[in-house]
Amino acid sequence: MDTHPVKGLDLGICSNCGRRAPIYFRRYSGVKLCSTCFKEDFIKRVRRTISRYELLKYDDRILVAVSGGKDSLVLLKVLYEIEQDFPRSELLAALIDEGIDSYRLDCSRISREFANALNIELHELSFRDLYGFTLNEVVESGIAEKLKLHPCTICGVLRRKALVTAARRLGATVIATAHTLEDIVQTYLLNLLRGERNMRPIGLRRGAENVIPRVAPLRLTPQREIALYAYLEGIPFQLRSCPYTHESMRDEIRNFLTLYDYKYPGSLYAFLNTFEKILEKIPQSAEVNRCEICGEPTDRRICRACEIVLSIKDLLRN
Ligand SMILES: [Zn+2]
Ligand SMILES: [Zn+2]
Repeated sequence: MDTHPVKGLDLGICSNCGRRAPIYFRRYSGVKLCSTCFKEDFIKRVRRTISRYELLKYDDRILVAVSGGKDSLVLLKVLYEIEQDFPRSELLAALIDEGIDSYRLDCSRISREFANALNIELHELSFRDLYGFTLNEVVESGIAEKLKLHPCTICGVLRRKALVTAARRLGATVIATAHTLEDIVQTYLLNLLRGERNMRPIGLRRGAENVIPRVAPLRLTPQREIALYAYLEGIPFQLRSCPYTHESMRDEIRNFLTLYDYKYPGSLYAFLNTFEKILEKIPQSAEVNRCEICGEPTDRRICRACEIVLSIKDLLRN
């Protein structure tokens, strides 16, 4: 039996194998796991998430959205492990370069090396090529301010659109994003507080014709487990955060949820499950409305991405 590296500290033994010293304590369930069992359990949870929500099919061509941060590289690694059992499925990776100078260069290098090591093709697309401008230009020229849009909003909407473009070009059948349990709960709460009308489940596979579904296989995985998995697997990642200040409302919700979940472990799961049961009851129309410009699904006449691109181009010309 291994002894715990910290002498004299009695943490008991791994709840799973009953042999090795635990390195992780899951507060909401009281389970303690050694590093071997933790890594196995981590992958098992993603597998269970995929089958519980039917996120992926055995013959999917999966495009993983990679940013160079730990969440997306962990997602790529875990899907790579799971995909070994599905010979008819295929994994691809896409990195969207918004044009935030040196920050993105690091992300791009780390992602490329990591994808190469797993023998996965990494496709890079830039805002410059797709839209004709970079995020830096939009912010520095004061256009973001003129449009009263936060850089994160512009970036988020245009990255989303860029991923769909990448998926269409590569013939992907599904897009996998690295949204975590915290990300999803934060977004639900933000939408609620902002009075968003068209609320839909996030990261679940919705069947609609000619729409590439976006799924979030890490939707039940908490951040701290992702960080621990990245550390144990030696996954390199970009530590610097994006130079643009974040949306303050999201930051406030994030801080509140972190504290709350620490005090009352398991709260995030409770919220997610209950909220999604309520969402299920809201009838979703099967008919898909399409953007008049790009043809992608939207609730409006022109989708948000096309609207933002048009107004930016307009201001850049003047
Ligand atoms: Zn164990
Ligand atoms: Zn559009």
